[in-house]
Amino acid sequence: MFEQQIDELAGLVQRARRAVVFTGAGISTECGIPDFRSPGGFWTRYKPIDYSEFLASADTRLEAWRRFLMIRETIARAEPGPSHRAVSRLMERGHVSHIITQNIDGLHQLSGIPADRIIEIHGNGTYAKCLSCGLRHEIDWVSETIAATGRAPACTACDGIVKSATISFGQSMPEQEMADARAATLNADLFISIGSSLQVFPAAGFPVLAKQNRTTLVILNREATGLDGLADLVIQADSGPVLDGVMAQLQPR
Ligand code: NAD
Repeated sequence: MFEQQIDELAGLVQRARRAVVFTGAGISTECGIPDFRSPGGFWTRYKPIDYSEFLASADTRLEAWRRFLMIRETIARAEPGPSHRAVSRLMERGHVSHIITQNIDGLHQLSGIPADRIIEIHGNGTYAKCLSCGLRHEIDWVSETIAATGRAPACTACDGIVKSATISFGQSMPEQEMADARAATLNADLFISIGSSLQVFPAAGFPVLAKQNRTTLVILNREATGLDGLADLVIQADSGPVLDGVMAQLQPR
């Protein structure tokens, strides 16, 4: 059904030497991790907790941790899916330079991509950090502390607020990662967005930046996105079968 678009994407990828792959929650749904906005997704059940609300109330922090620990159980069981594996092979074969990901699930790392090629602009959910002194705390410790005290944990070194190392709504974006993502985007010879609704800014600014830099933009997503009008190629489909189709056509260089 998508043969023509798969052919077109395979041609673009074949020629690319420094493609950037930009990923959102949709690339991990085939691994059993729900996205946020699809029907039945997390946000259709829970309103997101803003950073300022997290800081303002101990009860809100406890609720935020309760939700985080629930999602974490699913993430901890997940393994890279067909799309993660295809992207990893594209990097191995020299077509892709960097992954910019909004995901916090660590599945690109698990697919074998070196950490220095993965730019996590919304942080990482596999550990926590003190917001005052920056000390790293393990999620298991957070979970045990909550079970023992019934309260959100405070930093063992400075008594500061402990939060998962992810970026919440209202929290500033990580400076180094944003700079790295910008540099990779400006250096890209192809920009492919996979599994993102492209509604969350500033993250969705990267495909816009790529296009402003006259880089070919491909959007591969199950449903229409806010930026389809900008793209050179839109493939409205599940990513796994499309990327498998692309891999099947790729010629060795
Ligand atoms: P989103 O939920 O807004 O959008 C996901 C998009 O993926 C949807 O438009 C959906 O139609 C599409 N999709 C779902 N399954 C797909 C598939 N198999 N193939 C192709 N498309 C598919 O997610 P977002 O744009 O990444 O933004 C939401 C925020 O949620 C991000 O900041 C991200 O950090 C966070 N998040 C992360 C995870 C994770 O780490 N796995 C999971 C949920 C949310």
